[in-house]
Amino acid sequence: MRVGLDIGATKVLGAVMDAGGTVIAQARQDTSPGPDGILASATAVLDLLATALANFDGYRALPSYIGIGIPGIVDRDRGAVSHAVNLGLGGDWFPLAAQLAGRTGATVVVENDLNAATWGAHVLSGADDLAYLSLGTGLAAGFVLSGTLRRGAHGVAGEIGHVPIDPDGALCSCGQRGCLELSASGSALSAAWPSAGEEPPAVALFAAAAAGNPAAVTARDRFAAGVADAVRMLGLAVDPVAIIIGGGVAHVGEPLRAAVTAALRAQAATSPFLAALDLASRIQLLPDRLPVGAIGAALIGNAG
Ligand SMILES: [Zn+2]
Repeated sequence: MRVGLDIGATKVLGAVMDAGGTVIAQARQDTSPGPDGILASATAVLDLLATALANFDGYRALPSYIGIGIPGIVDRDRGAVSHAVNLGLGGDWFPLAAQLAGRTGATVVVENDLNAATWGAHVLSGADDLAYLSLGTGLAAGFVLSGTLRRGAHGVAGEIGHVPIDPDGALCSCGQRGCLELSASGSALSAAWPSAGEEPPAVALFAAAAAGNPAAVTARDRFAAGVADAVRMLGLAVDPVAIIIGGGVAHVGEPLRAAVTAALRAQAATSPFLAALDLASRIQLLPDRLPVGAIGAALIGNAG
C-alpha cells in the first residue's frame, strides 16, 4: 500500500492505494498556510485516512510510504519545497519530507504537484505518451513521454501558461504581457463569468451557454479557443499520443471536451496541416472525482 497527498492552496486531498493500484481510502482537509499549517493539515489527512483504513479488516496502520504533491519549487533529493506563494512558503527551503517523516516514521517523497498529477493521469488513462493540461487557477502542462516523466532541466517543463500570445494583452503576474493563462485558465474564466451562487464559475458558465445565453456562449467559446491554443501548442511541440485535460475546470466534464474539440476543429478547418494532426481526437478527460494528484503522488516513486 501507498499513501498519496495532494497539498493545494485550499485543501489537502489524501488517497491510499492498494498493491493493485486501486484507491481504498480517501480524505480531505482544508489547508492551513505556512510550514506549521501545512504539516498540521497533512497530519490531519493522514489521521483521517488511518481512521478510514481501520474499517478495513486487516489494515491497522498507514503504509510506510507517503508521496506528496505540492506547488512550488521542489528539491526531490532533499524533500524540500520553496516559493509556494499560495501556501505561504517563500524563498526559504521547507524540509517537508524530513518533518513529516519525523512525525510518522514513514518514507516521505515530495514532488511538484503538477508532475504528480501528470503521473496520476498516466496511471489512470493507461497512456504511456501524453501531455496533461491542467486548467486550474492557472494553466500549465506536464508530460509523460514514452513512459518517462519529463520534469525539465530546471523543473519548468510545460509552463505554457506563460507563453505570451498577445503583445497588446494585459500585464501578467510573471511580468510579461498577454500570457496564454490570461485567456485560458480558471481565473480567466471566473473573471469572464463571475459566479454568485454555489456553483463553480466554470460549471455556471457552461450551463448558461447550454441554455442559450448569448453572452455565455461568447465567453465559453473564447475560453475554449484559448484552451485549443494551448492544445495546439502541446501538439506541435511534443506531438503526444494523448492530451488529457484536468484541473478544477475539468469538473465541467463532457461539455468542456465538446467545446475544446469544436474549437480545435474550427482552427483546423482552414489548415489541412492542422487537420492532418487531428488534435481533437487526442483530447481525453479523466473520470471525475478521482484524486489524480494524490494518486500520482502515491505512485510516482516508481517513476524514479
Ligand atoms: Zn505570464
